[in-house]
Amino acid sequence: MEIKERYEGVIRWFQANDPEPRTELSYDSTFHLLLAVILSAQCTDKRVNMITPALFEAYPTPQALAKATEEEVYGYIKSVSYPNAKTRHLIKAAQVLVEKFGGEVPSTMEELLQIPGVGRKTANVMLAVVWDESAMPVDTHVFRVSNRIGLTRASRTPLATERTLVKYVPEEIVGKAHHWLVLHGRYVCTARKPDCASCGLKEFCKAYQSASAKGLSVEAAEKKKRKPAPKKKAAPAKEK
Ligand code: SF4
Repeated sequence: MEIKERYEGVIRWFQANDPEPRTELSYDSTFHLLLAVILSAQCTDKRVNMITPALFEAYPTPQALAKATEEEVYGYIKSVSYPNAKTRHLIKAAQVLVEKFGGEVPSTMEELLQIPGVGRKTANVMLAVVWDESAMPVDTHVFRVSNRIGLTRASRTPLATERTLVKYVPEEIVGKAHHWLVLHGRYVCTARKPDCASCGLKEFCKAYQSASAKGLSVEAAEKKKRKPAPKKKAAPAKEK
């Protein structure tokens, strides 16, 4: 199947089955979305949503958070992954917003990357969700699902995945495509046990087609690929 045809089929299926995908992070302002996205690195949205209501209430503005102590903030976020580093990032992010951006979350990649705790993925989420830009944040789900389906050609880095997806997905739905791939990776095409039986993308999925042709599941085919080849026996030493 040509890559273009694969993209068309996948997009058609998502458009029909999930026309309005949304982020699963809860937030009530752009500033709070930024905090939630920083907190969600290496952590589930579910866990982040459990702790953010109290955090948002305590710190409604960057000005309020910029003055907080690490002990105070840590108390709110201690159950997410990497709480120490994230505590420092949240406070510093608020300080930078106040000092450099007049207390507003900026709207360009260049400016967003100046905020502590904000990398390319977080900046892309902000651009896509808040400003509806054709940005493609590549997290572990987007990376894995794109490779499995064959939307990318065995991309080795998130940036390579981002570039390929942005090249083939029509500009006006790049943001949507991000949500589709994240949600699909979270609930169907999971890392350890992709649920191919109930997946609507089978006919377009490279990993599924290739594994089926060998009589294997995607899971089994991936395990086999990861298994190191047996070591060759050393040739017996020549007798003198
Ligand atoms: S067919 Fe299987 S491997 Fe392919 S996208 Fe669906 S769940 Fe993932």
